[in-house]
Order: sequence, then structure tokens, then C-alpha cells
Amino acid sequence: MSDLDRLKGIGESTRKKLAKLGIFSIRDLVYHFPRRFIDRRKALKIADLVFIDNEDYHSIGHVIQLQEIRSKTGKPLTTAIIKDETSSINVIWFNSHYVKKIVDVGDRVIISGLCEKGRLINPKIRKYTSDQDLKEFAILEAIYPETKSLSSKVLANLIKQIFDFNLFREDEILSPMIMQAENLMDINSALRTMHFPQDIQSWHRARERIAFDEIYRILLEVKQRKEEAVKYQSFKFSIDEVAHTKLMESLPFKLTDSQVKAIQEIYTDLQKSIPMHRLLNGDVGSGKTIVAAFAAMQAVCNHKQVIFLAPTSILASQHHQFFEKIFQDFGVNIHLITSNTKSTVKKLRKHGGHFADKEIFIGTHALLFNIDLFNNVGLVIIDEQHKFGVKQRETLEMLRSVSNLVRLPHVLSMSATPIPRTLALTLYGDLDVSILYKPSIRKRVITKCIYDEDIQEKMYEWIRHEIRTKKYQVYVVCPLIEESEKSDIRSAIQEYDNLRKRYPEFNIALLHGKMKGSVKDKIIEDFKEGKIDILVSTSVVEVGIDNPNAVIMIVEGADRFGLAQLHQIRGRVGRSDIQSYCFLKTTNNIRSPHLEFFAENHDGFVVAEYDLQKRGPGEVYGYVQSGIPKLKVANILDIDFIKRVKQYL
Ligand code: ADP
Ligand code: MG
Repeated sequence: MSDLDRLKGIGESTRKKLAKLGIFSIRDLVYHFPRRFIDRRKALKIADLVFIDNEDYHSIGHVIQLQEIRSKTGKPLTTAIIKDETSSINVIWFNSHYVKKIVDVGDRVIISGLCEKGRLINPKIRKYTSDQDLKEFAILEAIYPETKSLSSKVLANLIKQIFDFNLFREDEILSPMIMQAENLMDINSALRTMHFPQDIQSWHRARERIAFDEIYRILLEVKQRKEEAVKYQSFKFSIDEVAHTKLMESLPFKLTDSQVKAIQEIYTDLQKSIPMHRLLNGDVGSGKTIVAAFAAMQAVCNHKQVIFLAPTSILASQHHQFFEKIFQDFGVNIHLITSNTKSTVKKLRKHGGHFADKEIFIGTHALLFNIDLFNNVGLVIIDEQHKFGVKQRETLEMLRSVSNLVRLPHVLSMSATPIPRTLALTLYGDLDVSILYKPSIRKRVITKCIYDEDIQEKMYEWIRHEIRTKKYQVYVVCPLIEESEKSDIRSAIQEYDNLRKRYPEFNIALLHGKMKGSVKDKIIEDFKEGKIDILVSTSVVEVGIDNPNAVIMIVEGADRFGLAQLHQIRGRVGRSDIQSYCFLKTTNNIRSPHLEFFAENHDGFVVAEYDLQKRGPGEVYGYVQSGIPKLKVANILDIDFIKRVKQYL
């Protein structure tokens, strides 16, 4: 049962509306902070109103005209003229029948609202009959992020009850020493002030305290997690220098400085008896896989199994191929386990868990359904770590316990969504992030927003020419419509049909997440072999496909992607020396400054940072997957503030 019952005036319908706002308890209500305040305490004369650009005032006047009319399109409008001794002003309310019910011509009224082109638009109005009216109107008024049907007033009344009757107390996590040193309010005063401040300054102080609380709790959790982690034992590997040199010398390229550094950092972790928990963070194409391979090699040299998790079967089989190639002279058995490789699992089961000495298992989460197979896991590698939800992480915990009751495997996570250093430090701590930069100065992908239909036509003609004369291949990525994968697929099919009509001479294929694995693999194989000219897909190409001859990309509805994600999608082209192109189309050809920024910027960290500032970390990385908490007040990118809090931990 919810403790909301303790509040007066909560019926079934209010409860439902609260639920829509994510409010199920008194605590939720207390933490449902106003978005902003309107300060109606200052009095202004009507003559002054044409100069203001906010609602932070009230005016007193008389209604000298009031009528309900209809707009040209038939919408009901209420208009009025309000006058005082200095001037008069026209007022308009859209869709508001209530005005005529509460005021009349000749009434003395109090009014407050935004003024546009000399008119007040949808102002708040109240009949002025006594000083009580003015007292209730001319206040600091909380504006809550509300749903259509639940007003700020209703919310404020409910929250007021909580504080008036002391129905909620938060635990104080800061010591008096910290509060004094930082000149912070106590938490319960701050919570109250968030809703009912005496003045804007005290509201700012309350916000500062709440922000402090939010960051403090995150840092505390990181710290506890670290303290927790060192309680566990892992495998203390010894580094096989001979194998290391052999692998390095067999590569067709030279490792970049950042790769060498990352490998060293991983080796240092692996030689400790506590479990590694490292994040390898690098832009698309920065060469994370080979770094992971070095770690895997050391694990097998120490007679431990390796599990390598990939988010899609496409990626898993690509990694499998890559590992087979680089480890061909190392006597390592490399198994691929996805939902398409049931026979492999059967074969492995026959062995009853008794494997040869050096084993690497690469696969999708299908791997995790067979965790009982693995009895000697020393290293777990997770590619595109942000793609794995909480569920897989829980399974990973299971794996740890199956693997060995006393010792936990080392864990190396990889993410191609660049996490800015600031954020990484906050969430992972100082030591556990290795960053990779792109190897060579590959050519930039020329990125253009194409809003104009004439230019779109020219683009399609140009693409026709490129395919015909140079045999280049093309990706067409279709947008995320909503959360539902179904509608994504529908839009991709639509686009597929359009393009087949447009380019009857070309070979066009469709790829989406709901296709059977074997069908998908075949299409990707055909695409890589150049049998397909244009590959139309949902955002599944975001990860995985590696085809250097595909140098042109069209993104439909690019405005529906986050920039960090879009950057990953763009990373599918520009994988060779051929100049690549990425064309961005938007829904209804709407112009987008964000996309213009994206078109000009090619560094994943810059794009991610911009995206973070615009949308916030949870939106960019996903709250659930990334474990990034939803912050209400604090800005997790405010490094100075984080440092200020950190000194007390
Ligand atoms: P990502 O970080 O996106 O997972 P990959 O590991 O798939 O990148 O590497 C992208 C490509 O770059 C691969 O073909 C890989 O073999 C190649 N590569 C990796 N390291 C280097 C390097 N130091 N120099 C040149 N090419 C490299
Ligand atoms: Mg990768």
C-alpha cells in the first residue's frame, strides 16, 4: 500500500495522474521539485507591461471589455481589455471558458502573464475583492513539471500537507562539519525550501544542497563499490612476455600509443589479486578489439577460460573470425556461441565441461544461457557494454558464482560511445578507464544535412552515378520511430520499397533486428562480397557491420537519433581510404542545429560531450544500462562541483 493515503484530497483519479508522473509515494512527491518559480510579488502598472519579458509581477486594473469569440479556424477565444490609471492592455486567452465565469466587465482584477506584441497571452487572472485575494495571488508560485490534467496548484497543495503535518523526514547523510564548512542547509529544510522558498536566493541555496546530496550519494556508492570489490579475490596472472611479443609482431599494423598504454593498464590489473573492472573507452574504429585480444591471450596463457560477450550475433561472428585469424599460431580453441550455433553448444556439452587447455568463448547473451558450461573463467570481456541491460549484468553475477565460489573473473568492458573523461571519472573512479584514440588520421566522413527536396533528388542521382561507375555501396539507415521495434521495421520496409522503385537497376536488400539470424548473416555476407548495392536497415547497423567498400550513407529521420548514437552509425562508413559521405535527412525536412553541429564535428568525444550537455547522460547512455542515476538538480558534468563534493569522501 502506498502512503499517499495519508494525504487529504487524494482520490482514485488524482492517484492515477500522479502515477503518470512517476509518483507513487510521499517520498516521490517530496522529490518532485518545481521546474521554476514565478515571482508575482512585484506590482507593475499596466503602462509598464509592454516592456517586460516575464511573468514575475502582478498588475491591478479594471475589466472594461470582455467577450468570447471564435478564431478564424473556429477555436474559442476569450478577449478582454484591462485598464488602470496609466494605460490599458488587450488580453487574450485561448481555449479558456473559465475566464468569463470568474470575472466580469467592471470588476477590479489582479493579473499576471507574458506580454507579446503588446498583448497579454493566457495570463493568470483573479477578481480583487479583498486584500486576501492579493495576498494569495502575489506570491512566489511553484511551477511543477505537470501533466495536462494535474495542475501545479493541486501538486503544491498535496506537498504542503506533507510539510505542514511532518509526514516525511529524509535521513541526513552529511555531517554537521561538512554542512558548516560548505554553508549548506540541512536536508529537510532544503527539501521544504525547494517547494516553498521565502525568496529566490533561498531556493538557490536549497538547490545547492540537493545537488550536493545527489553527487555525494553517487560518489559514496562508487567508493563503496570499490571497497566491496577489493574484498573479492581474483586470479593473479603472470604476464607472458614471449606470447605478447609474438602476437604484436604478427599484426599487420603497429599498435597506437593509446593501445599500448591501454594494454599496459590492463596487464597491471591482471597481475593483481583483486578483480579487474576496467572500461575501455574509444571511438568507433579506435581498435578496441585487438586490445581485448591481448588481455584474452594472457588469460589463456594463465590456463583460464575467456568469455567474450557481444551485443549482436553479427558482431560476435566478426570477433570470432578476427580471433581465429590472429590466434591461428597460438593453439587456442575459439568457439562461437549464438542462438544460431546450437550444435556448438551440443558438442561442448558432450565434453561435459572438460575442455582443452586454451579456450575462448565468443558469443551473444546466448552464452549466458549456458554458463554452467564454463568452469574456469578468468576473464570476461563485454563489447558495447552499454547495450547490455541490467539483466545480462545479473547473469554475469551468476557466471561469477558458477565460475568459482571464491575467486571472481576479471572484467573488461568496452564502449564505443565516448564517455567524456569528466563523467567517466565520476562514475568509474580515477584508475579504471582506459581511453583509445583513433589510429591513423583517416579521412573525415563528409557529412551533410539535406533538407531541400531538390537537393535530395540531386543526391539520389549522384548516388546512382557512384554506384554505377565506381561500384561503391550504400547504407540507408531508417529512423527510430518510437520505443517500438515494429514501427521501425515498418518504416524500413517502406523505404526499401521506395528505393526499389527509384533504383530498379540495383540490388537492394533489407536488414532489421527481427530477421532470423541465418538470414541476417547471409545478407551481411552478400553485402560484404559486393552482391548488394544498397542496404536498407533499421539502426542495427549501428554496431557490427564492417564493409570498407560501403562509403555512402543516408540516414533517414536523423533528428530522431541522439548525436552519440548517430556518430556510431556514421562510423560504419569511412573505413578505408576512399572518401566517404553521410547524408542526413530529417522528419518533414525540419532544420536542426544539432545535426549541423554533428555534420561539422568528427571527434566522438566532442559529439558525446555536446549531446550530454543538450540531453543529459541518462538520455545519451540510457539510465538503466549505464547505471547513470537520474539526477534532478545536480549537473553530473559540473566537474568543479563534483570536486567540491569529493573532498569529503
Ligand atoms: P572498435 O574500437 O570500433 O571496436 P575495431 O577493434 O573493430 O574498432 O578496429 C577497427 C579496425 O582497425 C580493425 O580492422 C582493426 O584491425 C584495425 N586496427 C586496430 N588497431 C589498429 C592500428 N593500431 N593501426 C591500424 N589499424 C588498426
Ligand atoms: Mg568494436
